[in-house]
Amino acid sequence: MQRIVFTGANLLDGRHAMRPGACVVVERERITAVERAPIESLPGDRTIDLAGKTLMPGLVSCHFHSTYRDISVMPSPLGLEKPPGYLTLAAAANLRTALLCGFTGVVSAGGIGDAIDPQCKLAIEDGLVEGPRLVAGGRGLDVPSGYSDAESWWWELSNHGGHHICSGPESFREAVREEIRQGVEIIKIFPGGGHATERPHTGVSLTKAELEAICEAAHSRGARVRAHAPAKDSILACIRAGVDIIDHADDLDEECIELMLRADTTLVPSMFFTHQLLKQSEGFGAGVPAQMAPLAAGFKQIQKMLPVANQAGVRIVSGDDFGLDFLSHGRYAEELAFYVDVVGIDSLDVIRWATSNGAVPMGLPEDLGGIGVGKLADLIVVDGDPITQMGVLQDRSRLNAIIKGGVFCKDEL
Ligand SMILES: [Zn+2]
Repeated sequence: MQRIVFTGANLLDGRHAMRPGACVVVERERITAVERAPIESLPGDRTIDLAGKTLMPGLVSCHFHSTYRDISVMPSPLGLEKPPGYLTLAAAANLRTALLCGFTGVVSAGGIGDAIDPQCKLAIEDGLVEGPRLVAGGRGLDVPSGYSDAESWWWELSNHGGHHICSGPESFREAVREEIRQGVEIIKIFPGGGHATERPHTGVSLTKAELEAICEAAHSRGARVRAHAPAKDSILACIRAGVDIIDHADDLDEECIELMLRADTTLVPSMFFTHQLLKQSEGFGAGVPAQMAPLAAGFKQIQKMLPVANQAGVRIVSGDDFGLDFLSHGRYAEELAFYVDVVGIDSLDVIRWATSNGAVPMGLPEDLGGIGVGKLADLIVVDGDPITQMGVLQDRSRLNAIIKGGVFCKDEL
């Protein structure tokens, strides 16, 4: 088996400051050596002098809607905007885009019916299509009249498209089990409104018993749970029930942070969406006023509190609602630069969010998100320094190599 020996690398491992002059050896799918001193090459090695380029872990997006394509803020019912075959092709194209942008891992944020994510995962693993490692999502779970039950009742669309509409703990348990049966690994729930939706910002639409039933049913089968929870009441209720990932968290405050730390909850701030939407609505004047006021207030609040959560040690990860008409797939790395330039987060911290922190929702905390002996060789080579210039990650021509499990997906070295 040919070894890949990288020399002269600037090593950015997701945990430490940049280390220049490093040697890294990849054998089969894993990293087998990381040294400061030169490594003796063996016959058959492919030795690549990186000459000061950055070698870092593949990026991870922890909020990924594979089927979204030009979705508007108030769409037709998600999952029904196109036929399932079309949405599967869209998902395959978006997953390939993510990989070629240097994202070797993505965690689904749900809202996806017809088992499209699990089928794409299988096709990627079988080598049928190119894509990142995928934690597959499925339909979002909600109650009648809840956030995702946005269809008009006379359409009688409940339990179609991208959502399961359930009532009572048993009904939710059944939906979780059905999702898992289809290969779903992360269950998305919608206990809160807000975050640019028509539904009220506050109020928890699922009961405590329903939230607990979902978490119990998912966790007992090794699946995880993530929640659309922008308001404080839904954030706290979800963490207390055992939800693994809080999405959006616009009303983040000290109490939420403390509870997240105690429960080891992962936070997806997804502020880039809000920033882009607010910017766009300013552009065309009125926007959608009823949605914009709480959204603007939420943006201010999380902008203030995200550095506090980061300092306190909350596991923050990157990922957002890419696939909208104003936020297309492929713009993932803009989000990383946004957290540095607009929110004022240290660039090394943002790299950690998108690498080692992301390995936890990926379900491979020991194997992914770092450069160390025994880790999976999911790596990217960047012609530049993301620490001093995060924008370099947006330039695909400067991503010289993308490696997943020791195999080059892009090789311009
Ligand atoms: Zn989303």
